Amino acid sequence: MSTRRDFIRTSAGVGASAALGVFPKSLHGAPHVVIRRVTPTCVASANGLGAAARAIQELADGASTIEAVVRGVNLVEEDPTDTSVGFGGLPNADGVVQLDSSLMHGPTRGAGAVGAIEGIKRPSLVALDVMRYTDHHLLVGEGAQRFAVSMGHKVEDLMTEESRRRWVEWRAQRDESDFYLTPDQTGERIGRMRAPEDFGGDPRVDSHDGYRPQGTINCDIVDSNGDISSVTTTSGMAYKVPGRVGDSPIIGAGQYCDNDVGAAGSTGRGEAVIKTCGSHTVVEMMRSGMHPTDACLEALRRIVHVTVEPRLQDAQGRPNFGVNYYAVNKKGEFGGAALFAGARFAVSVAGNSRLEDSAYLFERSQ
Ligand code: ASP
Repeated sequence: MSTRRDFIRTSAGVGASAALGVFPKSLHGAPHVVIRRVTPTCVASANGLGAAARAIQELADGASTIEAVVRGVNLVEEDPTDTSVGFGGLPNADGVVQLDSSLMHGPTRGAGAVGAIEGIKRPSLVALDVMRYTDHHLLVGEGAQRFAVSMGHKVEDLMTEESRRRWVEWRAQRDESDFYLTPDQTGERIGRMRAPEDFGGDPRVDSHDGYRPQGTINCDIVDSNGDISSVTTTSGMAYKVPGRVGDSPIIGAGQYCDNDVGAAGSTGRGEAVIKTCGSHTVVEMMRSGMHPTDACLEALRRIVHVTVEPRLQDAQGRPNFGVNYYAVNKKGEFGGAALFAGARFAVSVAGNSRLEDSAYLFERSQ
């Protein structure tokens, strides 16, 4: 609990630092934006249509922005038919479901995350507990699970008949080189990533990515006061190397929120998002005045710029994987963009929830 004295001390500290020029003026927020009343707006990945609608309803019922988005994504985490998130999410190469999640609460500047956590159906709730009940921002693996149990979360088997069937099929045709490289191959190997059909391509995940089944839910919200929160939760890349952590639990990669500016999040190949600090980049682009859609496109261009490995390129030198960004700003403007045409995102605003086409950089990859 912060006290009035803490508040005064903090305010004085910020004032003094600012006077000393410790914080560049540009970090003081979005100076050209005067917030009056904002229409509560929530954006999410395409599998988050129900989540976005629920988040907006939660706000109307009095929830804070962070509670609203977490309750929204809980729907998808609990859904056994979504094989990209929480219960029923596709497992790692050993057949173990390892989940990643992170979130940020704009008004308090709070952040929490868990990586490679096993046996916990709703990792976003554990990320929330990390934010609320620890001095840390990211807990991983066994320690994250122990912490979750200490907070009252149940350890459960997260595999469903369907996810086990798909993993068993994958195991029967797995290739030891699926995720491993030798140093001399790192920049040169021509990838032999397989098509989604090889894995029983799942239309509910971002299979337009063209390769290994992927999926995740990201959800970002702004309320009528202009307060903002974001959350991302996932079972990560299917059949990943055990212990692999994607972008979703990395603050600044899988999601980022600055209450002065807006929030953003990602789905798709996490490695590309981590390497470019993706969601942070989107928020910084919005801070400089870009519309959310343009900010998402700019962050995608950076991914293209750093994707130089032939094994990660298609015949035209474009990335051979997919990444999607979603963003909302403090005024309630929103957008979504993907590397390739055909992606959509969910939005819920003024009692209307719908899917919209994402902007994109490239026509669909062959
Ligand atoms: N971004 C997730 C990860 O890399 C997966 C996905 O969104 O498809 O773990």
